Amino acid sequence: MHSTQTPTGERLVIVGNGMAGHRLVETLLAHPARPAHITVIGAETAPAYNRILLSPLLAGELERDALTLHDAEWYAEQGIELILGERVETIDRAARTLTTDAGRRLDYDRLVLATGSNPARPPVPGLELPGVHVFRDLNDADALVRFTQTQAAERGGNAVVIGGGLLGLEAAEGLRKRGQGQRGMQVSLLQRDDRLMNRQLDLTAARLLESELRSRGLDVRTGAQLECLEEGSDGRVWAVHLADGTPLPADCVVVAIGIVPNAELGRIAGLEVNRGVVVDEWLTTSDPAIHALGECCEHRGQTYGLVEPIWRQVEVLADRLCRPATEHVAGYVDAPCATKLKVSGVSLYAFGPTEAGPDHEVLSYRDPQQGDYRRLLLRNGRLEGAVLYGDTAAGPWYFEQALAGSDLSACRQALLLGAADAQALLDDAATDSPTSPVKEAA
Ligand SMILES: Cc1cc2nc3c(=O)[nH]c(=O)nc-3n(C[C@H](O)[C@H](O)[C@H](O)COP(=O)(O)OP(=O)(O)OC[C@H]3O[C@@H](n4cnc5c(N)ncnc54)[C@H](O)[C@@H]3O)c2cc1C
Repeated sequence: MHSTQTPTGERLVIVGNGMAGHRLVETLLAHPARPAHITVIGAETAPAYNRILLSPLLAGELERDALTLHDAEWYAEQGIELILGERVETIDRAARTLTTDAGRRLDYDRLVLATGSNPARPPVPGLELPGVHVFRDLNDADALVRFTQTQAAERGGNAVVIGGGLLGLEAAEGLRKRGQGQRGMQVSLLQRDDRLMNRQLDLTAARLLESELRSRGLDVRTGAQLECLEEGSDGRVWAVHLADGTPLPADCVVVAIGIVPNAELGRIAGLEVNRGVVVDEWLTTSDPAIHALGECCEHRGQTYGLVEPIWRQVEVLADRLCRPATEHVAGYVDAPCATKLKVSGVSLYAFGPTEAGPDHEVLSYRDPQQGDYRRLLLRNGRLEGAVLYGDTAAGPWYFEQALAGSDLSACRQALLLGAADAQALLDDAATDSPTSPVKEAA
C-alpha cells in the first residue's frame, strides 16, 4: 500500500464539488470508518447543488434555493474543509500535492477527481460570439434567465437551441416557458438527426414529442445541419445559418449537443486518459493514490452522462476509501440506464435499442386520442428495449424485467396493458409451474 496510515487517518482531497463529489462526501460521512481529513475543492463559487434541477429552474418552475444540496456551514459542521471558487490546476503525483489557480498548495494521501464534463462544441465559425451560451451550471442558467428577463422582455427576440437531445429539449422548453409572457420571443430547436432524442426514441415516439412541442409554439427543425453563426453590427450573435441556406435570426444561442469528460487534470498529471480518466472497477486510476468518478471518468470504454450509474460508483468508491486495501470491496459494474425527460406535461420513458433488430419481436400499442404510445422489443420472450410516450407508469416495471432478464412469454398478451396485468399473468404462470412450491404441495 502506498501509505503507512490507516484509511481513517488519511488526508483525502476531492476535486470537484458537483453531484458526484458531494454524494461521495455524504456517503463517506455515513461510513463508520470515514477518512478523518477530507478537503473538497470546487471551481464553482456555490456549494454543491442539484444540477438536474437546472432545467426546471430555467423553466421558472423552481426557485434557486430548491437546488441547494448542503450549504457551506453544513460542510464546516461535518469537519470538512470546503474550498470554493478555486480550480485545481496541477497535480504533483510524486510529492502528492496539488495546486489551485489561487496559488494554494495542498497535500493529499488519496485524491479523487470528480471534475464532471464540459459541453461539447460543434466546429462551426461564430461559436465564440457574445450571446452564445451552454447549459451546464448555475451561471449558464442565470445568463439565460437574464436574457429572457431583459432583452427578450423588451424586444421579443429569437433564441436558437442547437441539439435535440435531452439537454437541448429541456433548454428549449425552459426558454420557451420563460419567454411566454415576453414580447413574442420565438425559440427554435435544431436537431441534426431526423428525429428528436434519436439515441432514445423510435421515430413514432419522436414524432409524437415533436408535434407536442410544436403545438406549444416551439419551432422544431429536424435534419438541420449547422453552417455558421453570424455576427451582428453590435458584435453579438445575430443569426444562425443552416447548411441548406436557411438563415434563422438569433439573439441568443444555446449549444447543447453533448458533453465531453473533463479529464484535463488527469491528462496534465500523466494519468492514463482516453476520452475520460481511465479507472478500474474500484474507480482507481493508473495511479493507485488517485481515483476518479462521475462524468470525468471512463470505465471499460464507457463514459457517463446520467446520475444513476454515478451513484453506484460513489457506493463502491466510498467503500474502497474507508476500508484497508487488503479488504475485499465489491467492484463497480456497468448496467443499462433508462431515460426520462423533465419537460412538464410530456411523459416519456425509454431504454434499450431504438430500432428493432432482425431477431426482435416488436409489440406496440397506440392510442391517438389519449396520446399514448408503447413499443416493446423482445428477444426470445425477454424484454430488451421499450419506448413509452404518454402513460409511462409501466416503464420502471418493464425496465426491472429487462434487467432481470425475465422470460415474459407467459404474460405476452398482457404486456402492453401495463405492469399489474402482466405481473398477474406471470404470477399465475409461476403458481401453475410444475416446479413451483404451491404445485408441489398440492
Ligand atoms: C441541465 C442539466 C440537466 C440534467 N438532467 C439530468 C437528469 O434529468 N437525469 C440525470 O441522470 N442526469 C441529468 N444531468 C446530468 C447530471 O447532472 C450529471 O450526470 C452529474 O451532474 C455529473 O456529476 P459530476 O459530479 O460528474 O459532474 P458535475 O456535477 O458537473 O460536477 C463537477 C464539478 O467539478 C468542478 N470542477 C471541474 N474541474 C475542476 C477543477 N480543476 N478544480 C476544481 N473543481 C473542478 C466543476 O466546476 C463542477 O462543479 C443533467 C445535467 C444538466 C446540465
